[in-house]
Amino acid sequence: MTVEIISVGTEILLGNIVNTNAAYLAEKCAALGLSCFYQDVVGDNEERLMGVIRTALSRADILLISGGLGPTQDDLTKEVAAKALGKELYLHEPSKRMIEEFFQKRGIEITENNWKQAMMPVGCIVVENPNGTAPGVIMEDNGRHVVLMPGPPNELMPMFENSIMPYLNELEPGIIYSQTVKVCGVGESKAESMVEDLINTQSNPTIATYAKTGEVHLRVTARAEDEKEARKLVKPIVKELKGRFGNNIYTTQEEITLEKAVVDLLLANHLTVCTVESCTGGMLAARLINVAGVSEVFKSGYITYSNKAKRRILGIKKPLLEKYGAVSPETAKEMAKGAAIISKADVTVGITGIAGPDGGTDEKPVGLVYIACNVCGRTNVKKYNFSGNRMKIRENSVSAALSLMRESILKYYSEVTFGSNK
Ligand code: ATP
Ligand code: MG
Repeated sequence: MTVEIISVGTEILLGNIVNTNAAYLAEKCAALGLSCFYQDVVGDNEERLMGVIRTALSRADILLISGGLGPTQDDLTKEVAAKALGKELYLHEPSKRMIEEFFQKRGIEITENNWKQAMMPVGCIVVENPNGTAPGVIMEDNGRHVVLMPGPPNELMPMFENSIMPYLNELEPGIIYSQTVKVCGVGESKAESMVEDLINTQSNPTIATYAKTGEVHLRVTARAEDEKEARKLVKPIVKELKGRFGNNIYTTQEEITLEKAVVDLLLANHLTVCTVESCTGGMLAARLINVAGVSEVFKSGYITYSNKAKRRILGIKKPLLEKYGAVSPETAKEMAKGAAIISKADVTVGITGIAGPDGGTDEKPVGLVYIACNVCGRTNVKKYNFSGNRMKIRENSVSAALSLMRESILKYYSEVTFGSNK
């Protein structure tokens, strides 16, 4: 079944509020295995709202409409939606009583316009709203379903979880099964373009991409009669994704994080690790230490923020720092190498970069980061240009370092194996 999400409110059109309801509903629909092909935003205007609802009714099975259910004159969603389906409104006694109670409890006087919220389309399902006065509404007409929800997210979200989701789930028989394919080391837009054809042609299973810091998650969701059948639908798509993303997939398990995948790789190969960080100030070490069981592999972590610390702790030569600067591939490499000498760890990582907001130059702008990873004497160094604020740049650097660690370890073993086969 297909869904169209309609957000009602002039405030959204003007940019005064961010349309978080649409994002929330879209994500929920994907998880429910419902395809959403259109989202609309329309102001509090009867004629245009009617136009949008009519268009949506002509191309979707389910309309999820949020906003404009309140008591004021500009709240007209219910009236217009009922009119679009040719349904009259009547005074719904239980809603009237709930509104009375709501106001009595808070000691506020009820004004005449509040009764507007108790007027309901004939034959509709009235959905309870424990967090506000405007009940939700579900109308059915010729196999199409129109759902009206209040605009405030703290009212819409619990209503959706508790009442709307079970209703939508019943519309189509069967169960939903999904599997997440987690990808690192591939940018968000590249990942999206790599699966665009699949996204555009699939309806069951559906594929949704979620951009995370330094990673992309691809969720494959199928609807089928039972779990076995659903898994059968998901399997070939996951296989296809594995073919396309190869080693960049670090897991297909929901509970495994990138740091956990890296720690598991270290554990599996009996490799110890040492981190040396400048701009990330220990965040890489902290993420690795998030993983229970890391003590088997994590030896030590250093924060060598100043040049003096880079010299004293890691033994980096002053002329090298002066020649190339602290933020350079050479320094990153020396950091990883120095760490290998002082810690005797098998895998060492050096991160150096400019997190901003100050300190950037034309040649070395804010967001420029070099990360080096040394695996048993073989060093990989990469250059990154991150955007965003100081925290975002630092978080991206840590995810990139975890990615590079994975890549370097896998590369090391493929080269070693290849070499010994020669
Ligand atoms: P109320 O009874 O509060 O008037 P309502 O159902 O009429 O509720 P609106 O008047 O459209 O809803 O919006 C009320 C508030 O809800 C907005 O000021 C905004 O804070 C929030 N809101 C509405 N639509 C959205 C949306 N699409 N995304 C996020 N927040 C929203
Ligand atoms: Mg309102």
